[in-house]
Amino acid sequence: MKKEIFGALVEINLKQLEKDDLHLQGVLPAEELDIPHDDECIELQEQVHYNLHASLQGHFVLIRGLVRFVLDCECVRCLNLFRMPVELNFNELLALEGEESVEIKDDSIDLTHYIREDILLAYPQHPLCDEDCDRLPQMPSRKGNKRGAHVESKNSSSTWAELDKLKLD
Ligand SMILES: [Zn+2]
Repeated sequence: MKKEIFGALVEINLKQLEKDDLHLQGVLPAEELDIPHDDECIELQEQVHYNLHASLQGHFVLIRGLVRFVLDCECVRCLNLFRMPVELNFNELLALEGEESVEIKDDSIDLTHYIREDILLAYPQHPLCDEDCDRLPQMPSRKGNKRGAHVESKNSSSTWAELDKLKLD
C-alpha cells in the first residue's frame, strides 16, 4: 500500500500495517520537526524528504528507508557559508509491547520524533566547507596561503591560535 503525505506528520497506522506493509513517502516541513537553534553554524533547510518502508515483525514495527535534507552551514575555519546535503539510512525497530514500547495514538505511531533525532545526530560537530579547509577568516586570497605549517588539527581553536601568531608578526 502506498501513501503519499505532504506537510503532515509522519504516521504509521497500525490497522493498515496489519493488512499490508506500508510505504511512506513525502516531504516534512522543517518547522514540524521543531529543531532547536542551539548551533548558530548549522540550520536545517525548509524541507525534509523521506521514503520509508514499514512492516510488522511480530510485536515490532520495522521501519527502513531514506531521509534526505540539506543543512546550511557556516565553516568553523573560514566562516564561509556552504550547503551540506545529507542522506540518512533510517532504520528503526519499534516495540509494540513491553516497557520500551512506542507510544500509540489513535492506532498510529508518530515517526516525526525519530526522524528529528536522526537529523540532530547527523549535524556535524565542526562544519567544514571542505575537509582540508585551512583558510583563515578574512583571508579570501589563496595566494597569501604560504604558511609552511599545515594545520593538522580539526579543532577550530587552532585557527585562533594561528591568528594570534599572525598578529604578533
Ligand atoms: Zn572553510
